[in-house]
Amino acid sequence: MEDASGSASLPGGPDAKKRRVCYFYEPSIGDYYYGQGHPMKPHRIRMAHNLIVHYSLHRRMEVNRPYPAGPDDIRRFHSDDYVEFLASVTPETLHDHTHSRHLKRFNVGEDCPVFDGLFPFCQASAGGSIGAAVKLNRGDADIALNWAGGLHHAKKSEASGFCYVNDIVLGILELLKVHRTLTFTMEMVLRKHFSPLIES
Ligand SMILES: [Zn+2]
Repeated sequence: MEDASGSASLPGGPDAKKRRVCYFYEPSIGDYYYGQGHPMKPHRIRMAHNLIVHYSLHRRMEVNRPYPAGPDDIRRFHSDDYVEFLASVTPETLHDHTHSRHLKRFNVGEDCPVFDGLFPFCQASAGGSIGAAVKLNRGDADIALNWAGGLHHAKKSEASGFCYVNDIVLGILELLKVHRTLTFTMEMVLRKHFSPLIES
């Protein structure tokens, strides 16, 4: 079915309104590798993208490459020392004195290993969700997707459940710049991860 307007959109829903969909994809995301036997496989994001392209779904969406989230963006939720650790640790420096004493505190190890490109991976993941929120805030899209996001287990100063940077919280903080009223889902996520924000 051709989209007569040629714009990036889905066919109308029951209300006949066309949904403008944007989709964030970082082409290098599939190269990040958590390690042998680890169940988290960013390669799957690339597989999903390949399916999207082969089904020509990308013609119905605006495809964007995310800007990498900067350390300042990530610090809107995460603590300074944790972000500094994530930005500087590598598999080679993991056991140096500067890093090894933090591994336990930041819960980095088996579930959340230090792999090559850990921080750029976090930057691409968070950058996609923040970029998606910006699109929604500007009214440039009705639906915004980021397969590389959803890493909601990450805590303010701690990795958890394969997640290091909480792109969900960062996306919600971006949405709150424009949408001052919390939806139920936003509130549940923030209560879990960022209670100081909603208790103030
Ligand atoms: Zn997780």
